Amino acid sequence: MQKVAILGSTGSIGRNTLDVVDRLAPRFQVIAISGGTNIELIAEQTARYKPEIVSVATDQHAKELVERLQGLNVGMPTIKTGMEGMLAVATHSEAEIVVSATVGALGLLPTYKAIELGRRVAIANKEPLVMAGQLMQKCAQENEAEILPVDSEHNALHQCLRGERSSEVVRLILTASGGPFRNATLEEMQQATVAQAIKHPTWQMGAKITIDSATMMNKGLEVIEARWLFGFTADQIDIVIHPQSVVHSMIELVDGSFLAQMGLTDMRLPIQYAMTYPDRLVLDLPRLNLTNLQKLEFFAPDESRFPAITLAYKALRLGGIAPTVLNAANEVAVARFLDGSIGFMDIPRVIDNALSSCEKQGVGNLSSIEDALTADAKTRLWAEDFILELNSLTVGKSN
Ligand code: MG
Repeated sequence: MQKVAILGSTGSIGRNTLDVVDRLAPRFQVIAISGGTNIELIAEQTARYKPEIVSVATDQHAKELVERLQGLNVGMPTIKTGMEGMLAVATHSEAEIVVSATVGALGLLPTYKAIELGRRVAIANKEPLVMAGQLMQKCAQENEAEILPVDSEHNALHQCLRGERSSEVVRLILTASGGPFRNATLEEMQQATVAQAIKHPTWQMGAKITIDSATMMNKGLEVIEARWLFGFTADQIDIVIHPQSVVHSMIELVDGSFLAQMGLTDMRLPIQYAMTYPDRLVLDLPRLNLTNLQKLEFFAPDESRFPAITLAYKALRLGGIAPTVLNAANEVAVARFLDGSIGFMDIPRVIDNALSSCEKQGVGNLSSIEDALTADAKTRLWAEDFILELNSLTVGKSN
């Protein structure tokens, strides 16, 4: 039996991970979980999987969890909160696999600590790889940790690459659904509401990643993620729009062969792959029906409507703290779009300005996780200020 710790057990990836654990019983034992504020669900998960450590957002949530567990007549786990709790989950002394499935920069430190301990890290949380991918890879090599991608495109690339020599691979091709605004005009995108942006055509996901898909920053972040997961340069990583989301990504080889990984859009497949690699186990889910597929289409992305793509490549090429800055500015901008403070096309505007400001001051070196955390914190403050300024200008104009 392999022991598993899950960061982000109440989110979409976390819930799917527990479903994989159930399907493969008794192969895995869940020994630590962290969730945020959904105490009802984390109480249910605690009752069912009996982890030794459970972490929630705050002391108030911990109190609520204790009450619920008493009500359910369940033995009390060690309950922790906040970053300290996430670290306790990630570094549980018996965990062999750590599933990193939180959202955003918050996952950086716990994920890094799990790598430092030489664990297998099944990583769905892409922001840490964007912020500090080179440091995570270096740390993984030094500590013989394995980083297995759960993100569907990178999982597809991992599958395509597993039989090939890197020197014989020409490029990686990430597919993108194109999101809800694939065929929208720039004007429509400028007027886009949260309700319109939150409707993803092919994947069911959390709010942050769904907005990232609408701006296509998700694909930009994935380019940077692919850079550090697989060691290819920005010039060797391309994006292609593929509305059917059947081909999850491709590689092109020196002899002109293309290898693609295809399947239905169900995250349980990449999760199971990352947890059981190099084994492939039966997964009893609906299968792709090839003769039902009407067509597979591929288009070049329109960077004039999706400037987030251009910005992500720019940050990757700039290096240093630039990708960290890109990520932090994006997280702030998405949160402010979701709460109605800024418009949809202001998201890339905030990021563009953050990146330009960082470029002027020099992107420096990213030599430690502390550097990444400092750049992240500074950019968040900067972006909040920039948004306040943006809004005061807009108010001035409309008066
Ligand atoms: Mg993805």
